Amino acid sequence: MTITLSGDKLTAAEELARLLSPGLRVALTTHVHPDGDGIGSEIGLAHLLRARKLEVAIANPTLTPARFQFLFEGVDELDRSREAVKAIRAADVIVVLDISDLGRLGMLSQAVADRGVPVACIDHHASPGTLPAGPRYVDPAASATGELICEIALANQWPITEAVARALYVAVLTDTGGFRFSNTRPRTLRIAAELLDAGLDPEELYLDVYATAPAGRPRLVAETLQTLVVEDGLAWVTVPPGALERHQVTVDDLDGIVEFPRSIAGVRLAMLFREISQDRVKVSLRSSGSVDVAAFARPFGGGGHKHASGLSLPGSLPEVQSKVLEAARRYLLASSQ
Ligand code: 5GP
Ligand code: MN
Repeated sequence: MTITLSGDKLTAAEELARLLSPGLRVALTTHVHPDGDGIGSEIGLAHLLRARKLEVAIANPTLTPARFQFLFEGVDELDRSREAVKAIRAADVIVVLDISDLGRLGMLSQAVADRGVPVACIDHHASPGTLPAGPRYVDPAASATGELICEIALANQWPITEAVARALYVAVLTDTGGFRFSNTRPRTLRIAAELLDAGLDPEELYLDVYATAPAGRPRLVAETLQTLVVEDGLAWVTVPPGALERHQVTVDDLDGIVEFPRSIAGVRLAMLFREISQDRVKVSLRSSGSVDVAAFARPFGGGGHKHASGLSLPGSLPEVQSKVLEAARRYLLASSQ
């Protein structure tokens, strides 16, 4: 089965290949709290570029979650996130993956803005983008940035080895919630098939990603689900302050919890609230049907996709919660008219 690319995509993929020429030092980076798509896309692209004889460093603003560490097997020297600013400052080219907003690069934002080299971006978020100039390969219809890396490899006839395929498959698997979310298109499954053809074992990868949790994770899930509140079309849960530390888990272990409030019959907008510091709260939003949570998040400075977005606001947990809930109730009323 062949995967066809539009003329615009072919041109953009070729432009990227011209920029990423052998011998250059390239730094790959992604958003704060990288997920399976951010890390998988980085590692897939890192293997592709190393095969092209570029010198690659992965430099992220926050560290790799434990469950994605296995993707670095044999190439752990690529992870320069502990000295990320230095790696960004040494780069001839920077490639930003899975995000188009400079602000989401956290403590690397300034270094990327100041470096003065081309900053390429490969992303599937609908966002105006605030990165320094460079080639763009952006498609909000793609399920995952990993899909786009696969397209770029196919367009340029870069060989998709087993290591490349494994990383990109994890990217697509995680961003589609195991091929369940609305972003799973026929094309997504064709790309996944192309990746499996490289010799992957899907069950092994599923277990690597989803069956390696610490015992604290189900305990955290249980405690958080106790906070569930359900209203007309709206449901939310709140991570009790201090719960991550108490259960010895990380923010990555919150992945998927917001699917529980979303799973309730009649719920169109689901939220998960958590304190990220004494005076800042992060909200994860999920929706179904016509409710667009990317549009909801935008006035608050957040973003994401129609059915999965996020935002963070200054204030205490009760303050942010009442502000966002009030806006959500109004938004649901407006979107049901
Ligand atoms: P999650 O709720 O799983 O952290 O994120 C869901 C989606 O929303 C992801 O696509 C992520 O990139 C986006 N997102 C989450 N938090 C933020 C945020 O603070 N700002 C922006 N622009 N996007 C976010
Ligand atoms: Mn993604």
